[in-house]
Amino acid sequence: MFEVTADKIQALDSRLRKEGRVVIVSHEHPDGDAVGSTTALWHFLKVKYGIVARIIYPDCIPPSLAFLTECVDYMTADDEGAEEAIRDAGLVFCLDFNNFPRTGRLQQHLRGSAAFKVLVDHHPFPEEGCFDILFSRTDISSASELLYCILVDMPGIGGDAGRLPAECARSLMTGMTTDTNNFANSVYPSTLRMASDLIAAGVDRDSIIELIYNSGREEKLRAWSHLLDNSLTIMECGVAYIVLGLDTRERFGLLEGETDGLVNIPLRAAKVRVSALITEEKDHFRISLRSRRDIAVNTLAGERFNGGGHPQAAGGRISVPSDLDDKKNIRQYFEDIAARFMRDADTTRDK
Ligand code: 5GP
Ligand code: MN
Repeated sequence: MFEVTADKIQALDSRLRKEGRVVIVSHEHPDGDAVGSTTALWHFLKVKYGIVARIIYPDCIPPSLAFLTECVDYMTADDEGAEEAIRDAGLVFCLDFNNFPRTGRLQQHLRGSAAFKVLVDHHPFPEEGCFDILFSRTDISSASELLYCILVDMPGIGGDAGRLPAECARSLMTGMTTDTNNFANSVYPSTLRMASDLIAAGVDRDSIIELIYNSGREEKLRAWSHLLDNSLTIMECGVAYIVLGLDTRERFGLLEGETDGLVNIPLRAAKVRVSALITEEKDHFRISLRSRRDIAVNTLAGERFNGGGHPQAAGGRISVPSDLDDKKNIRQYFEDIAARFMRDADTTRDK
C-alpha cells in the first residue's frame, strides 16, 4: 500500500476531533468512484468519529448506485439547504475531482466557502491552491483506492481492512471496481492488494457485481443494441464514436448512468484505438473518451473539448453555439477533430 504521510494523517485526525460540521462533495454526473468514495468516507466518519457528515452531489446519482446511499444522508445541488450546508461547513472533503469546475453547480459555493478543504483524488494537475490538505496521486486506480490507503492509516485502524466499517469497505470496493472497468484498466499491484484485503475483510464482491453490472433494465440493453447498430461509426484512422441524441434517450427512457460503460465496447474491435460517446444535452454535448495505452486522450479532452481526465479515460463538452454552430453538424465537427488528433499522434510517435 502507499505510505500516506503521517503528518497529513495527524492533521486530518485532529481536525476531525474538533469539527462536527463536515461536508463531502464529488464531481458532476457522479460515477461509482464518486459515490463509492463519498459514501465510504461518510460511514467511516460516522462509526469512527461519531460525525454525521452531509454528502452533496452536483446532480443525481445513477439508480445502479443507489444501494450505496441507502442509509446515507445526502443531497444534490438543487436541494434546499445545499448551499447553506457548504457555507456553514468547517471541513469539506473533495473526492474524485481535481478542480472546482468539475463540481458544476457546486463550484461557486465551494469557491466561496472558508472551510478547511481536504482533497482526495487521482487525476493529474490538481488545483493545489484550493485545498488545505492534498492527497493526490495518479499511480493509483481510483479515489476509492487512495481513500482506502488514508483510512487504514487513521488511528485505531492499524492498516487492517477488517477494522473498517462493513459499509465503508463495500463502498470502497465498488468505487475501485467501476473505475477500473471491473479490473480491466488502471490496475496496479496496490489495486489488487486492496481488493484482496477487502475480500478477506468480508466484502461480498459477487453481490457488488450483480448490483452494478447485472441488474439493468431491459430498455437499457435494447438502447445499447440500437446505438451499436445505428449510431456507431468507425473511422479509417481508428476512432470510433457513437452519438446519443436526446430523441434516442427519450425513446428508450434512458436513465442517468445507463450509458456508463458503453464507450468501452467499440475498443473490442482491433482497429479501434480511441472510442468516444457523444451525448446530447439541451445546450451542449457531453463527450466521453477511452483509448488504448499508446494514445493519451486527456490532452484531446483538454485542448479541444474543454475537459480533462486520465490518459486512457477522459471527457469534456462541446458547447452549442460557441464551439459548434448547429447541433446537426456534430458528426462532421467531431470527425475533423478526431482525424487531426490521430494524424498528430501518429506523427509524434513516428519521430
Ligand atoms: P466518463 O467518460 O466516465 O464520464 O469520464 C471519464 C473521466 O474523464 C473522468 O474520470 C474524469 O477524469 C474525466 N472527465 C469526464 N468529463 C470531464 C469534464 O467535463 N471535465 C474534466 N476535466 N474531466 C472530465
Ligand atoms: Mn475516479
